[in-house]
Formats: sequence, structure tokens, C-alpha cells
Amino acid sequence: MGADRFACGTIFNIQKFCVNDGPGIRTTVFLKGCPLRCPWCANPESQLARVQVLHVSAKCFHCGHCREICPAGAVDITEGRVRIDQTKCTACGTCVRECPGHAMETEGEQKTVQQVLDIVLQDRPFYEESGGGLTLSGGEFLMQFDFSRNLLLGAKEEELHTCCETTGFIDPMRFGEIIQPLDTLLFDMKHWDADAHRRATGVSNELPLQNMKAAVEAGKDVLPRIPVIPGFNNALSDAEGFTARLHEIGAKRCQLLPFHQFGENKYDLLGKDYRYRDVPALHQEDLESYLAVFRQNGIEAFF
Ligand code: SF4
Ligand code: SF4
Repeated sequence: MGADRFACGTIFNIQKFCVNDGPGIRTTVFLKGCPLRCPWCANPESQLARVQVLHVSAKCFHCGHCREICPAGAVDITEGRVRIDQTKCTACGTCVRECPGHAMETEGEQKTVQQVLDIVLQDRPFYEESGGGLTLSGGEFLMQFDFSRNLLLGAKEEELHTCCETTGFIDPMRFGEIIQPLDTLLFDMKHWDADAHRRATGVSNELPLQNMKAAVEAGKDVLPRIPVIPGFNNALSDAEGFTARLHEIGAKRCQLLPFHQFGENKYDLLGKDYRYRDVPALHQEDLESYLAVFRQNGIEAFF
């Protein structure tokens, strides 16, 4: 069956000329919604699966109008700080339209498969020249299963290379279905230990590991990627644990992604606490011994 090009999804960004999201030059589509809650997440605005409203405090002059007009009673102002209760906000847009300082902004919009493909196909010559194509990211693209599947099928009908960035947290039957139109999978590995993974992200690593192994066995181009987070998975014993898991999966290589603070500002916009605010970034030179553990154990690790 062909792609349903009228299928609709909620996305929060389409980024062109990406060179770190799979092979060649790519257009990356960021979808909203994620089943994990990693406290270091660089895209916290992606976690909710629906359109949401952000407050830009630098533009706010604390008139209180948003609190008065919000029909859902979602706005609270305490000690001069505006907070939106995302469990109450219906994203009706009233405060976005009426805020005199334009301090309320909408994050995320609905687009059809065809609307996204029209944007992605604008750069076909660059994909052909570089071996690039379309990447689905997020959030977790698996959360919008039908939209993602139709978008990937549509991309294949257009003979594009397809890639995803994923946690792999989904039922294995559904995973087996959605990887059919995928060429490359960039697979997040947060922790090698199931309990540590659950404590930090809210879910176990069992499904992701099972699905990663299935993708390798299906002959897909799989690249495991490990975000190296201070105090969570950056001990040399963790590198040993990861290599054991990689061998179980049948992976031969992995990419290390040193922790950075790129998402800090977004936590402020969302009115969320950021536990890693004062944690220094890691650099490649900090992780040389860590990298060496992978190589000594037969895994081709790189940054
Ligand atoms: S209406 Fe706009 S300027 Fe006034 S308090 Fe709300 S966000 Fe700030
Ligand atoms: S978008 Fe609507 S429901 Fe949400 S905070 Fe603004 S006025 Fe309230």
C-alpha cells in the first residue's frame, strides 16, 4: 500500500543542510512527543506530543493580562514569574494573540506528509550529490507512528535515503513494521543497565536493546549512539557495560556524544527545572580513556 500523503503529524522544526544526522547532507524533521524523560534532554520542547505554548520571559513586562484571559486557568504569576501549567493549557492560542509583549509563542504545528515532503524535496540535488536524504528525529518519531510510517513510505516513493534518530522504545511488532522503509537507524543507548536506565528516563532499556538487535539482524545500517552524561554513564565501568551490550546486539561500532548544555535556554522558556544547569560540558579530551575501553574490547568507537 502506498503512503497516505494526507496523514497529519505534529512537528516542531524542519532543519535543512544537517550533516550530523546520518550520511551526507540531510533534511531533519523533528516530531513532537517522547515516552522517555531524560533530565539532560537537549530538546525538552519535544517531550509533549502536542502543540504547546512557551513563555519568553525577556519579552514579558508582567502586566498579568494572560492570567486574566486564559480560559483554562493555566497561567500563574508568582514572584514576577509567569508559569504555564502544561497539564491545563489547551494551546487555544488566546494568550499568544493577546499578549502585548508577544511573549507567548506556539511550539509545534500540524503538517501533512505531502507538506513535509514538499519541503524535503526542495534539496534533492544536495542529497544526490552527497548521499543524503531525509532524517526523522524528535522527540521520538515512533510516538507518531502512522504519520512517521507514511512519511517514510512517501520518501521511499520519491527514492530518497531515509534515516531516523530513535530510542527504539516501542512494541517489537510495530518496530518491525516501521523499519521496513528505513535505510539507517541512529540508535540512542542511554545506559547499559536496566535499573539505571529506568531511574533516569522512566523506562527500562529492555525494549530498546531488543529492537536494536532486531534491526541489526534485519541487515539495517545501525549506528548506536551513546550520550555520555556526567555522573550517569561516564565511568570506565560504564564503558565496559556498554561494550558488553553492543556485543550482545551484534553491533561493531558506536558513536560517543559528549554532554553539552545546548538545551539550557529551552528549559527557561518552558518554565521547567533543569537539573544539569551547573554541570560542566564534556569534551573529547575528557573521554579518551573512556573511548579506549570500547576499542580495547573490539568496538569501533568514535566521536
Ligand atoms: S500578557 Fe504577556 S506581557 Fe503580560 S504577563 Fe502575560 S506574558 Fe507577560
Ligand atoms: S494557550 Fe490558551 S490555555 Fe494555554 S495558557 Fe494560553 S490562553 Fe491559556
